Amino acid sequence: MLYDYLIVGAGLYGAVFAHEAAKAGKKCLVVEKRPHIAGNIYTEDVDGIHVHRYGAHIFHTSNEEVWNYVNQFARFNNYINSPVAVYHDELYNLPFNMNTFSKLWNIKTPAEAKAIIQSQIEKLNITEPKNLEEQALSLVGPDVYFKLIKEYTEKQWGRDCKELPAFIIRRLPLRFTYDNNYFNDRYQGIPEEGYTAMVQEMLKDAEVLLNTDYFEFIKGHAGIAKKTIYTGNIDAFFNFCYGPLAYRSVRFETERIDDCDNYQGNAVVNYTSHEQPFTRIIEHKHFNFGKQPFTIISREYSAEWKPGMEPYYPVNDATNAELYAKYKALADQRDDVIFGGRLGAYKYYDMDKVIAEALNFAAQEL
Ligand code: FAD
Ligand code: UDP
Repeated sequence: MLYDYLIVGAGLYGAVFAHEAAKAGKKCLVVEKRPHIAGNIYTEDVDGIHVHRYGAHIFHTSNEEVWNYVNQFARFNNYINSPVAVYHDELYNLPFNMNTFSKLWNIKTPAEAKAIIQSQIEKLNITEPKNLEEQALSLVGPDVYFKLIKEYTEKQWGRDCKELPAFIIRRLPLRFTYDNNYFNDRYQGIPEEGYTAMVQEMLKDAEVLLNTDYFEFIKGHAGIAKKTIYTGNIDAFFNFCYGPLAYRSVRFETERIDDCDNYQGNAVVNYTSHEQPFTRIIEHKHFNFGKQPFTIISREYSAEWKPGMEPYYPVNDATNAELYAKYKALADQRDDVIFGGRLGAYKYYDMDKVIAEALNFAAQEL
């Protein structure tokens, strides 16, 4: 055998594991089907602007070990994500906080905001929220739900809010202070040189083959490594034998605007009504406080995944959880292949969770 590990996917999970394995003296080969490393956190340098090709990526964590870990590979800036939401001709701050409530109801104090939300929630009589709609309504009441959540969520997931799990909306902070920070985490930022440079640093001691699909590659290279670490989608690995898992895919319409240096005044603007077919517009330069005389924006359109598309978000509803459990049972019978990362574990993981998962596995394995 030529390698200790064959790592499928040069995304964050694959790169962290490759780094740890190389440090432990193991020989790794990484195969990546795309023409570049870094998976979905890939950033492309376009005349000094780091374009987040697969959507806005803001690193945030409360896990000190993970924060120290990533800081070995990159210097992070002090970007704080504070998206703005547009609902028809109204504009609100996110996440749901005193700035949002003050604009909605023309009030000033937390007591006033709490009283309004409380009076709206009481009428609903929801004791145990069973789905995203009930969870959202019972947290923030109908005013916020109908203007800032319902239609955005339907665009994002292509499903009725009653059919989605409650945990999705619990990702968002709700606070009664004038604080527009989208995350509650202790640490936050974006690599100053872009995510691709960070992942490059992680992979510096591994061999990487780009434009290489594992399923093609393995036909001619069976037995090339003692173990495989697979970070692609788990259903594809088992040839969709129980049928495909559901994913949401995303299409980005990216535009360079040469005669404009500041298109929307913020890195992320969410469009929360059905009026616009896209969910959000990202203006990439603001992630790095760019001063270029031009700008680059991406409109983000969400779509149901079909074969041939990139899977982005696992759809963690009850049907797919059941289907995933069947694939997981197959995976557990394989001690020659380990399944990891967002697609391998079919979990809506943020970057810090993916790193923690890869480090935990590396600690057991190496
Ligand atoms: P991936 O990055 O998907 O890497 C898997 C790699 O495997 C890919 O490069 C793929 O091409 C390759 N691969 C798959 N199949 C094969 C095959 N058969 N052969 C060869 N290669 C293969 N997280 C945050 O913390 N903050 C954010 O702001 C944030 N924003 C996000 C926005 C969007 C639109 C999305 C979709 C995700 C966001 N995330 C965010 C989550 C973040 O992208 C993931 O946590 C992280 O990228 C997962 O890394 P991974 O290695 O598991 O997967
Ligand atoms: N969400 C919403 N309105 C918004 C932003 C988010 O209703 O303006 C909901 C939506 O259901 C989304 C979830 O909150 O899927 C999580 O949002 P987040 O921004 O964390 O999603 P991601 O960046 O992972 O797409």
